[in-house]
Amino acid sequence: MRLIDTHCHFDHPVFDTDRDELVYAMNISGVSDLIVPATTATTWQRLRDITHTSTHFHASYGLHPLFMAQHQDKHIAQLRQWLEHEHPVAVGECGLDFFIDNPGKERQISLFQQQLHLACDFDLPVIIHARKSLDEVLKYLRKVGSLRGVVHSFSGSQQQADQLIEQGFYLGVGGTVTYERAKRLHKVIANVPQERILLETDAPDQPDSQWRGKRNEPGRLAIITETVAKLTGSSGETIAKITTANAQRLFGIN
Ligand code: ZN
Repeated sequence: MRLIDTHCHFDHPVFDTDRDELVYAMNISGVSDLIVPATTATTWQRLRDITHTSTHFHASYGLHPLFMAQHQDKHIAQLRQWLEHEHPVAVGECGLDFFIDNPGKERQISLFQQQLHLACDFDLPVIIHARKSLDEVLKYLRKVGSLRGVVHSFSGSQQQADQLIEQGFYLGVGGTVTYERAKRLHKVIANVPQERILLETDAPDQPDSQWRGKRNEPGRLAIITETVAKLTGSSGETIAKITTANAQRLFGIN
């Protein structure tokens, strides 16, 4: 069984003390590769250094909407240079977060749109963070057009899932799916084509129900795989095979 964690903040300092052990543990549980999305321009260099230590770590560069206070307009021009020089597998993590207090919607939308245009220019997929904003995200995806990517940690409705798939997008499924209370998500996952599902941990955040309150780790992807297998009436092997092929197709990795 081979799995790819399509959303893991492996550059996070919380992993500095035991990153090698975590790689060992994730390999044992079947996780071969990590997609590592960026958050702020000041951490791109660090993310680059860490992802360069293994051909199984794949960098994505972008400006995360939860860190608006740290983003500057010049970072978009810098992002263009990084995409040019670094050839990452995606643009992101970018998106819209309207859940936070005083979200500053206009500026979020502006940065998001500029990153969508960069993804278009460089023919790269986008890794999207969407909280209380899926309809707006869909609006801007349609506006830019001919994009592909993933809405990570998807938690929307069946209709929003269908619309994203129609726009060429994948649904990122993580720890949330393992919680009993996530009834709507369980139904959506059972209904959508498996060819549009990507698995992710979002480590160190969003631990699964058996790992509640702990630092999430890429090796936990196996639990998410089992849960998706149960929900879809498939075997873990089948889900691993299909979702790994999905990740390889979207991010252009072996
Ligand atoms: Zn993230």
